[in-house]
Amino acid sequence: MKNITVLGTGVLGSQIAFQTAFHGFDVVAYDIDQAALDRAAERFDALAARYVADGVENAAGGRAAATIARIRLTSDLTDAAATADLVIEAVPENLELKQNIYRTLADAAPETTIFATNSSTLLPSALAASTGRPDRFLALHFANEIWSHNTAEVMGTPETDPSVYDAVVAFAAEIGMVPIPIKKEKAGYLLNSMLVPFLEAGAGLLVDGIADPEAIDATWRIGTGAPAGPFEIYDIVGLTTAYNISRMGGEKQQRFAQLLKEQYIDKGKLGVSTGEGFYTYPRAN
Ligand code: NAD
Repeated sequence: MKNITVLGTGVLGSQIAFQTAFHGFDVVAYDIDQAALDRAAERFDALAARYVADGVENAAGGRAAATIARIRLTSDLTDAAATADLVIEAVPENLELKQNIYRTLADAAPETTIFATNSSTLLPSALAASTGRPDRFLALHFANEIWSHNTAEVMGTPETDPSVYDAVVAFAAEIGMVPIPIKKEKAGYLLNSMLVPFLEAGAGLLVDGIADPEAIDATWRIGTGAPAGPFEIYDIVGLTTAYNISRMGGEKQQRFAQLLKEQYIDKGKLGVSTGEGFYTYPRAN
């Protein structure tokens, strides 16, 4: 793998493109129009600063800034795919939109190109047929802030060629990720299969009036040594996302969604991003 193309330069796509270029690969980053590409350029500048501020290995001395020179931006999908060895797709989480982009990509990319989706909630088998190359397609799922939360969950479909799977695992390691092999398709991969029930358990304790967020979080932190409890994590994830997931859940989850809406979202308290959620930020220690 030498030439890597990333589709979508939003929150995750920009991070994937930057992390890949940081590790020496030539990257083409594709988005729909010039306005999106302008935002991508701003995201790359911000990431260069974050890598230095967060002390990412070797990011000082101009390496983070030089990374941007290895990323070429384009809004032409055919051009983006033309010489790609691997295409990583990080466009919005919408089945039809993703299927359409894979159908176009199937014609635009060389037959040998591997396609990987970063989708968080769609199983790769839902997209495999539209790629036109199900044996060269799988999921490669990153976590937000990939330079420090550096897991790369690798999940094929029953049709994925094992050598393609292995090549993507090796690529993930080359860009500084810890590859996480997943043996069977599983909604939520490993991380969300554990995190979501954990967060829901915390929410259940709150809506049943058992304890306050502070007490629930403190119990988890002190009792396990983990850095954050469920409500501290909800604030990081963002309360709008938490609301959208909870309102689709069972009765208790829906009560939590209502609480989120009335007590937080309607008051503009969306979590860390707005400076206030269950807690106020920056946190006073
Ligand atoms: P985002 O909305 O921040 O970015 C999506 C980008 O895709 C935007 O730049 C948008 O302009 C672009 N886009 C829109 N339509 C497009 C099209 N037709 N073709 C190409 N690009 C198009 O979204 P995100 O949060 O970066 O999520 C992208 C994918 O990554 C989703 O599948 C999501 O499940 C997954 N993901 C997100 C996170 C996260 O924490 N945000 C974590 C892991 C995985």
